[in-house]
Parts: sequence; structure tokens; C-alpha cells
Amino acid sequence: MATPTPSQPSADRLVGPPATVNILAVSDHVNDLVYSGNIRERFRHIDLVLSCGDLPPNYLEYIVSTLNVPIFGVRGNHDHGRAFDTATRGSIAPGIVDLHAQTAQSHGLLLAGLEGSMDYNGGPHQYDETGLRLQIARLVPQLLLNKLRHGRYLDVLITHAPPQGIHDQPDRCHQGFASLRTFLHRFRPRYLIHGHIHVYDRQTVTLTQFEDTTVLNAYGYREVRVPLLQAGVSVAS
Ligand SMILES: [Zn+2]
Repeated sequence: MATPTPSQPSADRLVGPPATVNILAVSDHVNDLVYSGNIRERFRHIDLVLSCGDLPPNYLEYIVSTLNVPIFGVRGNHDHGRAFDTATRGSIAPGIVDLHAQTAQSHGLLLAGLEGSMDYNGGPHQYDETGLRLQIARLVPQLLLNKLRHGRYLDVLITHAPPQGIHDQPDRCHQGFASLRTFLHRFRPRYLIHGHIHVYDRQTVTLTQFEDTTVLNAYGYREVRVPLLQAGVSVAS
């Protein structure tokens, strides 16, 4: 005789709604909605700020001091000179972590960054393809460690310049990097968020899917909601 099946333990209890990290990405243009007395009200839900470069340090400091959330960034080709002199090693401005050739973890997301643009006049934070490959090589040991510890290389890569053939432009300064395409193919981040390409036209493409990666141009500001991959992912500060 069949015995009544006891009710199954509910797996649902273990899987809540997916936790989401609300990112504010900024780049290249000081936006009045961000640089505003209403920033706290407008962006109260933001967990994490990422800067993709070519922004004045006082703007970034305003964001970090008003939103009071972690902020990571990379430098653009214009991010040098006197305004940046107060930055200490490892930071772009007070309170803003320089993520160039570094990995970090925030809110359960694995982050990495690569600064600069294609070399067009030999200035700071400019690289040719070989130069950027050398910077990527600095990241690789950290990404391999991530893979061992977390089962994936990274979630979000921030850069100033775009990958070759994605949102880039034909002039030397705004050409994208082939080595970034190779990076996406090899390390499969879920997001690449970049700047450097100014957007003046609503028809301009600013979101492209490339293999496993959603590539986003953050010109001005852009909000990105990133679901965490699994329940129980540790939440880092
Ligand atoms: Zn730029």
C-alpha cells in the first residue's frame, strides 16, 4: 500500500528573489542630474558607482560624498594634470579607488578595470595594442585567482575605451582595442562598461551584446541593474 508522500521540503524557501546590485556608471560628461542638490533623492537606490573616466575629480568627490557608496574608476585620456595632483597612489581622487589593472569585489560582484585610450599623441593614459595587452597581462593572475575562488573570472569590466568594432569610431583617438575583444572572448565578463565615445544623437548605439558580455557606453550617466548570479553570494562591503 502506498503511503502518503510527505510534503516535500520547499526549495523555494532557499531561493528568494534574485538580489540585484544597482550601479550608477558615469563618464565623460558632467551631468546636471548627477551634479545636483537632488542627487540623494534621485539616486537613493544606488549601491555602487563606477566611473569610466574623463571626469573632473571634484565631480567624482561630490558623488562619493553625497551618495556615500563605494566608487571605483579608471582614468580617461584627459585625466591628468593639476586637478589630479591630490590623488594618492591607488586612487583617482580622494575616496575613489583606481581600478586600472586591478580587481576588486563589491556587493558580491567581481570587478576589474583598464584605463586609457588608443595612443594618438603620446600623452598619459594612452596605449597601443601591445601596451594594452601588457596591462591586461597584469590583470590575468588576479582573474585566475577569481576563477579558483569564485568559479568565474569577473562580472564587470570597466574601461575608458571601447572594444574594436563596438561603439568605436574611425579616428585614431576613438578606435577601440582589438585586445579588449580578445579579453571578452577569453574571460567572459557579464558586462563591459566604457566611456570615451561621446553621444550626441539618440540614434547612437550604446548597448551591444558581444558573446556573453553586454557592452554599455556610460557617456553622461547610466544606471545598470546587475542581478547576482546565485542566492547566497556573499555580500562584500
Ligand atoms: Zn576619452
